[in-house]
Amino acid sequence: MRTGSEQVCAYIALGSNLSDPVQQITRAFAALDAIPETRCVLNSSLYASRPMGEIEQADYINAAATLETCLSPRNLLHCLQDIESRQGRVRGEVRWGPRTLDLDLLIYSDWQCHDPELTIPHPGLSQRNFVLFPLYEISPGLMVPGLGSLQGLVKKASMIGLQRLETECEMSVS
Ligand code: ATP
Ligand code: CA
Ligand code: CA
Repeated sequence: MRTGSEQVCAYIALGSNLSDPVQQITRAFAALDAIPETRCVLNSSLYASRPMGEIEQADYINAAATLETCLSPRNLLHCLQDIESRQGRVRGEVRWGPRTLDLDLLIYSDWQCHDPELTIPHPGLSQRNFVLFPLYEISPGLMVPGLGSLQGLVKKASMIGLQRLETECEMSVS
């Protein structure tokens, strides 16, 4: 069980499709940097993605961030949930419904955990292009605990339905 004292790297997936999603994600980057004992050291570009699931809803804006933190994984998760609430997240009954802000804890150091309240690496990581590509942009050499190289996961993924909003520098997976 980690209590959190040494500094570790953690990776966050951000998503929004309500109430000015670009502004929601921009605000969330600043809020991540303001978490106690934590710095947001890298932000990805913003990406537009098609929503998951069967619900009719607006497209999403997604991004990823690298944190350096001394918080334990559970304390960090609670801070992420506080930020979601402060930015107007209402938890509905429908899974994958529209939201002002979703912050998922993707990776915490080399930690692995399979509790329903906190599963790390996040179970959607390897399947979701809107998580893989932003994460690869900010950490191309990352090893995902239990899943191998991020580069290997990205090579198996498709950009279909995903658009990087800053197109001036193309991403290549070598
Ligand atoms: P998904 O988890 O499939 O991306 P979601 O983000 O819409 O779906 P939420 O409603 O935001 O799901 O969260 C549901 C629960 O997931 C939360 O109560 C939280 O405790 C739990 N959870 C488990 N592992 C994680 C994690 N790594 N990051 C964030 N939440 C997690
Ligand atoms: Ca999510
Ligand atoms: Ca979530």
